Amino acid sequence: MDEIEQVKSKTDIVELIGQYVKLSKAGRNFKGLCPFHNEKSPSFVISPERQIWHCFGCNKGGDSISFVEEYDRIDFAEALKFLAQKAGVTLSGPVHKTEREKKKDSLYELNHLAQQFYSYLLTEHKVGKKALVYLTDERKLPLALIKKFGIGYAPTGENMLAQYLNKKKKYSLEDIIDAGLANQGRVVTDFFRGRVVFPIHDVRGNIIAFSGRGLDDQTFPKYVNTRETKLYRKSESLYGIFFAKEEIRTQKHAILVEGEFDVLTSFREGISNIVAVKGTALTLEQ
Ligand code: ZN
Repeated sequence: MDEIEQVKSKTDIVELIGQYVKLSKAGRNFKGLCPFHNEKSPSFVISPERQIWHCFGCNKGGDSISFVEEYDRIDFAEALKFLAQKAGVTLSGPVHKTEREKKKDSLYELNHLAQQFYSYLLTEHKVGKKALVYLTDERKLPLALIKKFGIGYAPTGENMLAQYLNKKKKYSLEDIIDAGLANQGRVVTDFFRGRVVFPIHDVRGNIIAFSGRGLDDQTFPKYVNTRETKLYRKSESLYGIFFAKEEIRTQKHAILVEGEFDVLTSFREGISNIVAVKGTALTLEQ
């Protein structure tokens, strides 16, 4: 049995999908509301015998790996890795990655490095002092919460982040721009400058974008978000989802709010099944 088959045979598809979709028994199968299209009566069916799923509404279907791919919007290699880890199967080598996947990996790495850079400036460096005081004194956010959510400060300089990522970490300017961290004008300039920055995570904890707030109410616009990139589709992301997902699963419902601070103050008060919509209208993907 090859590794893919091993992962599949050690994954119980009903248990897996049951973590995301409320299922009920229907004869030899299980059914529930399809997570991939909007419906009121269940046409999403799982066969435990054949270890497959199928939706008679939108016609999507497949095995446990394709469910994870579809649900988390990740590629085959990532889905396999995720399930292998859950099932305790050691993969012998890296699953072959395409150029597109390699590109995405480097954008994730760049976002991660940017977050560390911003976070260091906010919590350790004097340039972030004013921003830190704003968060802790004016907004009453505890330092532990600031660190948990990876909040940082983007300095006012023209391209301090881009310089750091390019000169010190050896990433190409093209990738830095493609990640949405800088703009190409006459010179390369950092996208976020003089702002508090909030990383936006996907459900698995990868940083897909940032949201930046001006330090005073004169800053215009008050909030800016990373433009849409290969990693970030505004209509599909929710601020706080990575930190809130367990509690949402437990409580079976989520509180939706509008802004980062609504999420953060709720977490401070111990309410953690809460997420913020990015953008104005709630979409089906969210
Ligand atoms: Zn469907």
